[in-house]
Amino acid sequence: LDWLIAQKFIPSYFNQIPEMLNALPKGKNDSQNRTIVGGGTDLYVQQHDQLIDQNVDLISNTPDLNFVEINNSVCKVGAGATATDLMESDIFCSAFPRLKKHIKLVASSPIRNMATIGGNFVNASPIGDFTVFFLALNAKIKLTNKDQNRTIYLKDFYKGYKDLDKSTDEIVSTISFKLPTQDSHFNFEKVSKRIHLDIASVNTAIQISISENEITQTHLSAGGVGPIPLYLRETCDFLLGKTLSPETVQSANEILQSEINPISDVRGSADYKRLLLRQLFYAHFITLFPDQFTLDSLK
Ligand SMILES: Cc1cc2nc3c(=O)[nH]c(=O)nc-3n(C[C@H](O)[C@H](O)[C@H](O)COP(=O)(O)OP(=O)(O)OC[C@H]3O[C@@H](n4cnc5c(N)ncnc54)[C@H](O)[C@@H]3O)c2cc1C
Repeated sequence: LDWLIAQKFIPSYFNQIPEMLNALPKGKNDSQNRTIVGGGTDLYVQQHDQLIDQNVDLISNTPDLNFVEINNSVCKVGAGATATDLMESDIFCSAFPRLKKHIKLVASSPIRNMATIGGNFVNASPIGDFTVFFLALNAKIKLTNKDQNRTIYLKDFYKGYKDLDKSTDEIVSTISFKLPTQDSHFNFEKVSKRIHLDIASVNTAIQISISENEITQTHLSAGGVGPIPLYLRETCDFLLGKTLSPETVQSANEILQSEINPISDVRGSADYKRLLLRQLFYAHFITLFPDQFTLDSLK
């Protein structure tokens, strides 16, 4: 810092910034009325004027909420971890070899540097990319207030459009999920009006386990095709115990179509979104099992 100041790259008052920040009047410690801010990439877009005068809890730099750890095949991620934190975590990347490709489809570097996973869940957009990603990992979330913790499945968090199983004093503190095993395969797909720097028209993720060509477990999610990010329970149930084949996947698509309820909006008509989800559902299998699936085999 001293060198930068001496070279006149930055003004000399930069040296005093820590003291200047400490000297600022502290907000009232009124935890009931504080707004929780992760990276602020949703909140400050939605409520920039109101937030200027409000007390906020900036949680993304709290060490308790910003970590990635793996113990006994269970991965725990602090809800304050950002998209970039995940991309830079060696242990997370080794669990998801395609992670960088997937996360590059989310927003832009400046947004990824700020956007937290917890913020993505609580913002509850039906097209939240991380929500769809973690739904397919059958993730659990820990909700914490000053008195207690409780843990629920992410798929049970969404009760209706922006209606959450969360009281106002609870924060999402930790996300946990079992790591994919050797028999399980994970994929994420997203289509937006622009490939990069754009929110999804439709997105979907899958974790599918196969043993001797039989489907032993599936977790499938989709966004942009209903009022909440969807965990597609009936399609998952249908796939259980079936042979992995194009016929099975085509039949599963019929169940999938009955589970979704897209609306027409600026991102496309309801019919277009149904078609998109079908193609992305097929893309999961073409990507994960290229020897068994081609687009032609699914026509
Ligand atoms: C230009 C731009 C591009 C974007 N592109 C994408 C995209 O491609 N894909 C995508 O999914 N999203 C995208 N977003 C949306 C946004 O970046 C994400 O939803 C992000 O993950 C939100 O996280 P955050 O930490 O910024 O949330 P914040 O804005 O800080 O908070 C969002 C909400 O969650 C609450 N909250 C935050 N953390 C917690 C917590 N731990 N516990 C309880 N409540 C909490 C806040 O009070 C607020 O209500 C984009 C946004 C912008 C501005």
